[in-house]
Amino acid sequence: MSDIGARAVVLGGSMAGVLAARVLAESYREVLVIDRDKLLGVRESRRGAPHTVHAHGLHARGHLIMEELFPDLTAELSSAGVPTGDLGEMRWFFNARRLQPARTGLISVTAPRPVLEHHVRTRVAALPNVTFLEQCDILGLAATADRERVVGVRVQRRVEGAVPEVLDADLVVDTTGRGSRTPAWLAELGYDRPAEEKVKVGLAYTTCHYRTRPEWFDGVQSINPVASPAHPRGAFFGQVGRDLCILSLTGVLGDYPPTEMGAFLEFVRSLPVPDVYEAVRDAEPLDEPVSFRFPASVRRRYERLTRFPDRLLVMGDAACSFNPVYGQGMSVAAIEAVTLRGHLRLGAPPAPLRFLADVAKVIDTPWDISAGGDLDFPGVEGRRTLKVRMGNAYMARLQYAATKDPAITDGFMRVAGLIDPPESLMRPGMLLRVLRHAVRRPEPGESWLTATPAAGTPVRPSV
Ligand SMILES: Cc1cc2nc3c(=O)[nH]c(=O)nc-3n(C[C@H](O)[C@H](O)[C@H](O)COP(=O)(O)OP(=O)(O)OC[C@H]3O[C@@H](n4cnc5c(N)ncnc54)[C@H](O)[C@@H]3O)c2cc1C
Repeated sequence: MSDIGARAVVLGGSMAGVLAARVLAESYREVLVIDRDKLLGVRESRRGAPHTVHAHGLHARGHLIMEELFPDLTAELSSAGVPTGDLGEMRWFFNARRLQPARTGLISVTAPRPVLEHHVRTRVAALPNVTFLEQCDILGLAATADRERVVGVRVQRRVEGAVPEVLDADLVVDTTGRGSRTPAWLAELGYDRPAEEKVKVGLAYTTCHYRTRPEWFDGVQSINPVASPAHPRGAFFGQVGRDLCILSLTGVLGDYPPTEMGAFLEFVRSLPVPDVYEAVRDAEPLDEPVSFRFPASVRRRYERLTRFPDRLLVMGDAACSFNPVYGQGMSVAAIEAVTLRGHLRLGAPPAPLRFLADVAKVIDTPWDISAGGDLDFPGVEGRRTLKVRMGNAYMARLQYAATKDPAITDGFMRVAGLIDPPESLMRPGMLLRVLRHAVRRPEPGESWLTATPAAGTPVRPSV
């Protein structure tokens, strides 16, 4: 362990927080993780992180980093009944057409998110210099008189008679998620707030669980009809335990999947492919559907500030909260943790603006993928630069071509899994493969409902 300081305090003990704590523990004598919820031993979704009840895939890059930070995590998860499988071998549908399955060698972990978090957190809590302060509200920051440097955190424990107190810190890392108060705290300290970029997608997830029937998945880990402009309703239907599966429906631009069971099933029936409906139409769900609204992706441009207090960093959804359908948030948090480790290995407390500039570089590509992809939906407001329009026109061709050629699925999954940069899809060999199948932007796949001759007798579109 290098010794950069006495105590690092991590605000928020969800995924970004525990990953930050893991790397901070290599450099600080003590790491304190503070959260308003009870965390240790918890395997269920909790109040401070209600989104965790919905489908969460830990995709390639996040998986590789977590396996490196927590050796044998995949084996541990597998023995706990968590499905892991090849990202390219899932049943992916884009525009109602199934991608050719491809063996990519990249692992996707489809644990219930609270279970994944539990395993990772347990590993972090076992580190001798990491402590969790649970059920404690974070109220604000404490700074030096000249407000140049953060020196602690104001908190209030959730116990009767508790009063606000200040906990000293040599470094504070904000991982309190998209509701982070750092912009307001900066203003209180006399700094500018960061500029915010928003892409209003008006998304909602509605989720329930089922007892898996073996015939549903037919050897695949999950069935994912992904939303597209022509078919804006989508779903993630995946195995998350030995005989447990999750169904998360997604709707955009205010078309929220309902929570009433009959209407929920109607939404399933309206998906662009029949696979999910055929599975669950007569199945008994294990719980009532619950919904989570995600009005907009939000990117906070901390790196553009010219002044920032020393000893304060921001990571995870607090810095950028992506449209979750792209499955990037946990992987980005993992890449940021590795970025933090790089700064810590310089042997001094990270310089905030330099660190935040590096975090921005981590965010650039997944933001382009998610914000750019959202702008393909005509109803989503935003500036469609030439790069965005060309990128979306090419991606539609590429997704179609991937229904014919598994090598294209492989390349696509390497980019979606944040392993390869999007430019890899433009290399001459890939470009030729794509153009061989799709010189023009293909018409959207035919909806199985519009192809239905009579209600209740769906037919698969021939593609
Ligand atoms: C519906 C949905 C589906 C998603 N699916 C995927 C997916 O498939 N794959 C993927 O990689 N990512 C996915 N994500 C994104 C992923 O959940 C986040 O990127 C990830 O959780 C990292 O979040 P975080 O740790 O930064 O913040 P959060 O998970 O929001 O955690 C913030 C923590 O801070 C605590 N906190 C906040 N304020 C205070 C306070 N004042 N006092 C005390 N404690 C406080 C909260 O209790 C919480 O524990 C999804 C997100 C959503 C919304």
